[in-house]
Amino acid sequence: MTKKRVAILGSTGSIGTQTLDIIRNYSDKFVAEILVANNNAELLIRQAIEFQPNVVIIANEQKYKFVCDALASYPIKVFTTTESIEQIVCGENIDIVLAAIVGYAGLKPVISAIKSKKTIALANKETLVVAGDLIMRLADENNVNIIPVDSEHSAIFQSILGEPNEIEKILLTASGGPFFNADNEFIEKATKADALKHPRWTMGKKITIDSATMMNKGFEVIEAHWLFGVKSEQIQIVVHPQSVIHSMVQFVDGSVKAQLSEPDMRIPIAYALNFPVRLPLNSKRIDFSDILTLEFQNPDTKKFPCIELAYAAMRKGGNTACIMSAANEIAVDAFLNDKIKFLQIAEIIDKTINKTMFIPNPQINDYIATDIEARKIATELLK
Ligand code: NDP
Repeated sequence: MTKKRVAILGSTGSIGTQTLDIIRNYSDKFVAEILVANNNAELLIRQAIEFQPNVVIIANEQKYKFVCDALASYPIKVFTTTESIEQIVCGENIDIVLAAIVGYAGLKPVISAIKSKKTIALANKETLVVAGDLIMRLADENNVNIIPVDSEHSAIFQSILGEPNEIEKILLTASGGPFFNADNEFIEKATKADALKHPRWTMGKKITIDSATMMNKGFEVIEAHWLFGVKSEQIQIVVHPQSVIHSMVQFVDGSVKAQLSEPDMRIPIAYALNFPVRLPLNSKRIDFSDILTLEFQNPDTKKFPCIELAYAAMRKGGNTACIMSAANEIAVDAFLNDKIKFLQIAEIIDKTINKTMFIPNPQINDYIATDIEARKIATELLK
């Protein structure tokens, strides 16, 4: 049996390491052909020695020599710079690209991979938030499958598989994040340690803060809009603290389909890697004989203004969501470096959207320019 050759963009991150767990357990089915990281040279080296990929890329040029020296005795090619990621993902030796770089940095490699007709297992939601129209158009033109890794979108994808019917509504579930039950006074004073305590998932720092502000859910609304071709009014966020239902799809006869499992990102990762065949996993099973309570609530958009910012950005269209995502990266980074308070994250995003030039029909160069301008404006606002 030929093995599927996987390029893992962001191999040292939360999604990347869980992807490697699956590849380790299914070495008869997959081979890690390319590993890409940014700063974590030590882990990248350990991964390279264990998985013996053809190529590793350490984007941070200052770590390049360190990685080269450590891997000198292995038949592994080492590259650096972000541009090299864009080139390497186009190689003939790749069957699937697992896109798990965090933030805007993940966009250009995904574009290159789509242009060279690689199947994309997409974790990097910012790619669709920033340039969803462009990405979906390119995927269509190149006949490329984008298989979602985000658990909610994987659930929606699984719920519509084989369905000839249109979606009436998507019910996008949300855990509510660490501040769901917190009062305003607590949130106002929240530290990064408070915000990094996610009740259900262990993830990278940026997405964990995005979950605390619920910007993550706003991003996912935009991601669902592009992936499944639904309008903003067809996407409803439902807070479901147990995170057992990963999202639902409602059809015209009132039927609702859902995908359920214990929260474990290896499930959607493995599903995307081996689509459409499910891989046996030793993930925890839902015990329905246990008294299982599934709760649902509406999100509090006053307490979490990022939700409404994301819906508004989606309705306005053009480069608005690109501005929002860039400002969010700057604000989250500032919060993680103790430069701003938690509630200022939404304020900075809102102000940046108002100050950055609106472009109604952006092309790739407009997105690149918008990202630069929005980051500059958001950085000035930090002062
Ligand atoms: P992490 O912060 O844990 O990992 C990010 C990865 O991206 C690391 O490997 C990092 O390298 C790499 N990286 C960052 N910048 C660059 C760059 N410029 N060039 C190359 N590599 C880079 O994030 P997560 O794994 O949590 O999330 C990854 C993506 O998946 C995000 O878009 C997130 O929204 C999405 N996602 C994550 C989920 C989760 O459960 N974690 C669930 C659903 C979606 P290094 O560490 O070496 O610096």
